[in-house]
Amino acid sequence: ETIGATLARTASTFGDNVALIDAAAGRQWTYTEFLHDVRALAAGFVRLGVNPGDRVGLWSPNRFEWVLTQYATAEIGAVLVNLNPSYRQNEIEYALAQSGAGVVIAAERFKDSGYATMLAAARPNCPELREVILFESAEWAALLAEPTPDDAARVAEIAGSLAPDDPINIQYTSGTTGFPKGATLSHRNIGNNGYLVGELLDYTEADRICLPVPFYHCFGMVMGNLAATSHGAAMVIPAPAFDPAATLAAVSEHRCTSLYGVPTMFIAELALLDDAGVTAGFDLSSLRTGVMAGSPCPEHVMRQVVERMHMREVSICYGMTETSPVSTQTRVDDPLELRVGTVGRVGPHLEVKVIDPGSGDTLLRGETGELCTKGYSVMKGYWNEPEKTAEALDTEGWMHTGDLAVMDESGYVRITGRIKDMVIRGGENIYPREIEEFLYTHPDILDAQVIGVPDDRYGEELMAWVRLRDGVADFTKDDLHAFASGKIARHKIPRYVHVVKEFPMTVTGKVRKVQMRAEAVDLLG
Ligand code: ATP
Ligand code: MG
Repeated sequence: ETIGATLARTASTFGDNVALIDAAAGRQWTYTEFLHDVRALAAGFVRLGVNPGDRVGLWSPNRFEWVLTQYATAEIGAVLVNLNPSYRQNEIEYALAQSGAGVVIAAERFKDSGYATMLAAARPNCPELREVILFESAEWAALLAEPTPDDAARVAEIAGSLAPDDPINIQYTSGTTGFPKGATLSHRNIGNNGYLVGELLDYTEADRICLPVPFYHCFGMVMGNLAATSHGAAMVIPAPAFDPAATLAAVSEHRCTSLYGVPTMFIAELALLDDAGVTAGFDLSSLRTGVMAGSPCPEHVMRQVVERMHMREVSICYGMTETSPVSTQTRVDDPLELRVGTVGRVGPHLEVKVIDPGSGDTLLRGETGELCTKGYSVMKGYWNEPEKTAEALDTEGWMHTGDLAVMDESGYVRITGRIKDMVIRGGENIYPREIEEFLYTHPDILDAQVIGVPDDRYGEELMAWVRLRDGVADFTKDDLHAFASGKIARHKIPRYVHVVKEFPMTVTGKVRKVQMRAEAVDLLG
């Protein structure tokens, strides 16, 4: 069914339940109120001339207006174009022109970024862009005005004409390995993925989900919002951008049962709890579950989340924008060992396989290769990029993820890295993730990332970037050798060490190894 049909069903069953809480705005909606506002906004879009299939850009941090716009565009079959809040001039121009957005809805500004100014400057280069509407403007208020009976009838008529396979969303990938690509997703893709993720988390109308993860990314809008609205659970927005204290305060105040985050978010939250594991000023006793996903989830962080944050049923999900996003997920009743150490098993109605990236042959359990996903969640393609689509999506419908994985006999998957990050040194495949996990065990090292750098003799050499713990003055190549010799194979010991304060990151909290490699090449001259 369509996203609009699901929301209508939830509102008719759980009308008095809380649908949405925006802590920063101090506002909340029941499902009845939420559906009312979504349909009012949908009518506003129709008055503005937005037709099914038209692209509507949304550029804003996490605020209630984001969620209303998400559901209002879906209601009338417009294609929501998620715009990353950290985009600047060039990126916003690219995404608006590439997607052919006719309308953009935006916050006027966010932190040091004047969105209104950048949008005005982008306009001449975006020929299809005809309307820019800021949340702070009278036009936005007019869009949300009470619809006339005629407007409401028009919305209902459009909603009834939509098909589940229609595209309703262009989501740009995080841009971790290169330029972001616009995955085109349908009601069927993301609606089902949100619902099924919620099923495996045992969501009911009693759940309240705290969402510090960005909505512009599928983690927030699918695994968060669509999982909530298909189960009658509440979406709780702690703050416009990630703030660990605001997040834990929202959990306490609104008695959230579920909390989402990328690993770095949980690390920041754990740092606010005192040593005894007591929750300094925060009451986390309402928490039951949650999701950690988006990048490799270190096992020691997972264990602490289970033990110190009361999240005994926390789940690790693995996926990518192109698969709506979740492909594998740990289940509530999986043994703890597997819940903290793997990304779980394949989700319902999906298939995964591990192949040899060279030959394409399916590998045996226990062998490392490229993970591929097939099923309802796989995108229609990259928006207007047939060549890139053909590279990623084969003729049998398998999405080639670009991730390296190994599956055990019972189907539990471990992600061992990205193909693009794999280093080939003197003909030998090296997985940086393995060396990173080893470096974490050094007492002076807070965080470590390993990349390959060009080398005349071996083709590539390893370089470790390390962040040191407070009070540690330095960490050299010799220190590394002394520590690693005899513990890991000689060819896996990084030749270069580079100490940094921070790694280059995407806003979704992922380390940008492409940028690190470029900087490393400069460093090595
Ligand atoms: P781009 O495709 O633009 O380079 P990206 O791949 O980071 O960026 P996303 O679609 O946001 O963009 O992220 C999907 C990727 O995140 C996966 O392909 C995988 O590499 C990584 N990932 C997601 N979840 C996990 C997880 N639980 N463990 C390890 N890696 C994960
Ligand atoms: Mg990707």
